[in-house]
Amino acid sequence: MIEKVDVLLVGGGVMSATLGTLLSRLDPALKIAMVERLDGVAQESSDAWNNAGTGHAGYCELNYTPQGADGSIAIHRALAINASFEVSLQFWSWLVEQGLLPAPTAFIRATPHSSFVWGEADVAFLRQRHALLSRHPLFQDMVYSEDTSQLHAWMPLVMEQRDTRLPVAATRVGYGTDVDFGTLTRGMVEALLKHPQFSLRTGCTVNQLVRQGDGRWHVSLRSSTGGNEAAFDVGFVFLGAGGAVVPLLQKSGIVEGRGYGGFPVSGQWLVCHNPDVIRRHHAKVYGKAPIGAPPMSVPHLDTRIIDGQPTLLFGPFAGFTTKFLKQGSCLDLPSSVSRDNLKSMLHAGMHNLGLTHYLVGEALQSHRQRMDYLRLFFPQARDDEWSLAAAGQRVQIIKHGQLEFGTEIVAAADGSLAALLGASPGASTSVQAMIEVIERCFKARIGSGEWPASMAAMVPADQKSLRENADLLGKVRRRTLATLGLN
Ligand SMILES: Cc1cc2nc3c(=O)[nH]c(=O)nc-3n(C[C@H](O)[C@H](O)[C@H](O)COP(=O)(O)OP(=O)(O)OC[C@H]3O[C@@H](n4cnc5c(N)ncnc54)[C@H](O)[C@@H]3O)c2cc1C
Repeated sequence: MIEKVDVLLVGGGVMSATLGTLLSRLDPALKIAMVERLDGVAQESSDAWNNAGTGHAGYCELNYTPQGADGSIAIHRALAINASFEVSLQFWSWLVEQGLLPAPTAFIRATPHSSFVWGEADVAFLRQRHALLSRHPLFQDMVYSEDTSQLHAWMPLVMEQRDTRLPVAATRVGYGTDVDFGTLTRGMVEALLKHPQFSLRTGCTVNQLVRQGDGRWHVSLRSSTGGNEAAFDVGFVFLGAGGAVVPLLQKSGIVEGRGYGGFPVSGQWLVCHNPDVIRRHHAKVYGKAPIGAPPMSVPHLDTRIIDGQPTLLFGPFAGFTTKFLKQGSCLDLPSSVSRDNLKSMLHAGMHNLGLTHYLVGEALQSHRQRMDYLRLFFPQARDDEWSLAAAGQRVQIIKHGQLEFGTEIVAAADGSLAALLGASPGASTSVQAMIEVIERCFKARIGSGEWPASMAAMVPADQKSLRENADLLGKVRRRTLATLGLN
């Protein structure tokens, strides 16, 4: 049987759930289907245990403000990410106000965001970073200190028994967030399931996409237990398959997707088991990535609330893998090499041998070595109180022979298909990313009829206005912090 739908969301992660929610509110008549290969939604990168749960806003992530060879610090990326996160906070506030999400404490909590550094050079860097950022209204509440007693109060575990011969410094934003993206995704999908025009199929893998003569897509599914499932006849396809997007993009055959490849990086955390230790830390403390490390493996000591339980994680430790999904296959990477991207993949491979070497080295570390690294942040950490757990996979984009660490939307020129590639800043900016998908693929509709007013109700202030209009930002922040209980 072939089912006709307006929109097909491939994958049940935070991206598809966000896009489905936005579209179903913009036009309740749209027939939307979501297909997920696993037996439930949000079990890959969007699950709380598979990502760091940081509401990325540029407050603490030092890799968003790189320092040039001349010592200057570029802050534009941090500003853009911060404004994008404000877009997410507005949308989540609206969902809470409408009763479409559970109480905010189920998925988001105020958790101070801090950057912590030691040594003259890094202290000078952080001081300059703070001076530049705090001039902007988006970062006006960021505070800076080199005072060890202040730092003790902010992060006791980090400061106790620390060798104070080296200078230390930290910044802090009190309303940084910890987000359980798994609960958020499941909440959005539960609300969608109440909508008569929405359907969800789990345990089904999308395995073929063929563009028809009339511009629609014929999409066939395979059930996880083997046999072929029914197919869809689709007007618009969104490839929200997380790490597994590259092979689907290749199958779609759209010219805009040619030459793309994926470079998977696995992740692991050290998880603390001592409740007394967990209780004494309440912050996300980010440090500087070691030289040679990919930007997303910035170490952090992280308070998390997962399924309502306080947790303390350290990591992520990046590692070498050939799987595109945590529950994927070792053949994912080799089978994604095609005639179209072979040159690009080889070029990226040759120019990133150092990174591969680093990832293999990381994967082979002993527990003791990982604990020694943790002790740089938490000097009194005990080997027997921490154990290793697997995080999710991040598949970095390879484009024109270059390895890239951001996210990118690839869309067919006729707007009939879009794909989300890459994993950083990821779930935090999912709302901005999905608005971009709508702007590119529903061009005729987003600017006319009821769509502009419906969009403005869900997200009153866009990213650009938030960056440029301090009064508007103040008003928006007061509402989102109050609605989401982040004050
Ligand atoms: C270690 C780590 C730390 C991270 N930390 C953060 C963080 O602190 N903050 C942040 O904002 N982001 C973070 N991220 C990134 C964030 O987790 C991702 O950007 C986000 O979850 C991606 O959502 P998604 O919906 O695109 O993909 P996913 O959540 O991976 O969902 C994709 C879904 O598609 C399904 N699927 C795949 N192929 C098919 C197919 N052919 N047919 C049907 N279904 C299919 C998969 O089973 C999966 O359920 C982190 C990621 C990792 C790995």
